[in-house]
Order: sequence, then structure tokens, then C-alpha cells
Amino acid sequence: WAKADGKARWTLFDPERNAHRMNRQALSRTLRPAVERGEFALQYQPLVGLADGVVRGVEALVRWCHPQFGTLGPNRFITLAEETGAIVPLGRWVLATACRQARRWQLERPDGPPLVVSVNVAVRQVWDSDLVADVATALAETGLPPRLLQLELTESAVMGTTGRPLQQLRELSDMGVAIAIDDFGTGYSNLAYLSRLPVSALKLDGTFVHGRNPADEAIVEALVQLAHRLGLTVTAECVESAEQAERLGRMGCDTGQGWFYSRPVPAERISELLGA
Ligand code: C2E
Ligand code: MG
Ligand code: MG
Ligand code: MG
Repeated sequence: WAKADGKARWTLFDPERNAHRMNRQALSRTLRPAVERGEFALQYQPLVGLADGVVRGVEALVRWCHPQFGTLGPNRFITLAEETGAIVPLGRWVLATACRQARRWQLERPDGPPLVVSVNVAVRQVWDSDLVADVATALAETGLPPRLLQLELTESAVMGTTGRPLQQLRELSDMGVAIAIDDFGTGYSNLAYLSRLPVSALKLDGTFVHGRNPADEAIVEALVQLAHRLGLTVTAECVESAEQAERLGRMGCDTGQGWFYSRPVPAERISELLGA
């Protein structure tokens, strides 16, 4: 059609943008079959106690090992997966795989400190899929105790939850599964609101950790105090230096996660790190 519209159109045609759009279409069409073909892999990144350096948990982060495009990070496909609904089977696979791996770590070091696996959950999994059933199945099939599973939801996934979605959060919490708010501080929710939800942890967004804004320090300190009063633990994301780890520990954050400790790595590297 571009040609029929004459030459002017050709100059408006942005090849880079078009390539991007075609990529999106190609990726979005192949997402679901890719889940069935097993083209995804998980990497894990440790959550470390800021006071004692003990690894308390690991966050599972998905990658697409694409046959043509190589390894794709979640920023390339999670939104597409949400749009197409492929996030539901993909999320189910992530849950099952992360729980299986966490159970292995538990058996590898029966006397070690408990290691929680933290799994990212998309809005759509809470709002229009049977997340409770998927979690229950993953736990039952792997034998992972519910207390060793944490789900990470963004503020937008929990904001305004009523009815069935809220019921799902309550049931998960009643099962003993922890619920964390991911990227906390980037949205519009507040702690007064969150305190009425079955949430047990906050993951402070990296922008606070890197904040050059002098007010950030006061904000983090106050947030941590309030979170602790409400019975929530606090993880600082994107800790990249010893100095940041030290400062966040001083401000009362419980755990830190970031390149300072480890990049996201394959499961075997975590086993080595745990000395199992
Ligand atoms: P997130 O859950 O906030 O995960 C943390 C992201 O920060 C990861 O990016 C991680 O690699 C990156 N990161 C970790 N430490 C540092 C650091 O010190 N500095 C900096 N600059 N970055 C750091 P990644 O793996 O690309 O994941 C991006 C996002 O994709 C995640 O953000 C999460 O929202 C989403 N995601 C990842 N896996 C899944 C999944 O299985 N399901 C769903 N629904 N979303 C996922
Ligand atoms: Mg996360
Ligand atoms: Mg995060
Ligand atoms: Mg994020």
C-alpha cells in the first residue's frame, strides 16, 4: 500500500521502526509455541542479608533462548506475553521450574539456612488466571514447602484488587506463600493501602538505591521504619557497590540484591555459591 500512496510515503517509512514492529509481531506469534518447545531458561540472583552476608533467597529471572535471535531478556518479551496471554503458560512454567530448583537446593543442604525462591508474577496471572491452582500444583509436584516460595507483584498488580484477584492473594498468603511488592516506590500505591493486603515484603526500586537526590536517604529511612512497624521486610534492589550495601544496611534494609553480590546466574552457579 505504501507504493500506491506515492513517493512521499516512502520517505516517512522508518525502516528501524518497521523492523522493530515486525520483530514484535514475529516474537508475539512464536511465544506460545516457544513455551511448548521449552525455549525458556531461568537464571537466579541472590538476595543477601545486609547485616550478615547470608544468602536468604534467590530471584528467578526468565530468559528466552531464541533459536534465531539468541538470548533475549524479559524486557523484550514479557509485555508481549502479557498482551497475547502467553504469560499464563509461561508463568506456569516459570513457577514449576523455580519450585523444582528450590526444592533441589533444599535437599542439597538440609541443615543450611532456609533459601526462599522469589518468582515474578505478571498482572494478568493475578487478574485473569487461576494463580492459586498453578502455585498449588507447582508446590505439590515439587514438594517445596510454601514458606520457601515468594511471589513478586508490582504495585499495579495489587492496586485496586477486589473480588477474585484479592481472594487469590489471600489464599496464597494463607497457604504460607510470601508476597512481595516489586519495584516499590515507582508506582502510586502507599504503605497504608498495602498494609491492608496480604503483603509481607517490599523490594525497594533501584532508583532509591542509586538516588543522587539527598531526599532519597530520608525517604528510604522512613519507608523502612514504617515497613518494619507494619511487619514487612525490605529488600534493596540494584545494589552495585560495597558502599551502597553498607549504607542500605545502616538505613535498616534487611536484604540486598544486585551486581555487587552477583549477576543473575544459572542454577549450578548458585549451588557453588551456596557451597553445596
Ligand atoms: P525485576 O523483577 O525488578 O528484576 C530485577 C532486574 O534488575 C533484573 O533484570 C536484573 O537482572 C536486574 N538487576 C539485578 N541487579 C542489578 C543491578 O545491580 N543493577 C542493575 N542496573 N540491574 C540489576 P531482568 O532479568 O532483565 O528482568 C527485568 C524484569 O523482567 C524484571 O524486573 C521483572 O519485572 C521481569 N521478569 C523477569 N522474569 C520474569 C518472569 O519470570 N515473569 C514475569 N512476569 N516477569 C519477569
Ligand atoms: Mg522481581
Ligand atoms: Mg524489581
Ligand atoms: Mg524491574
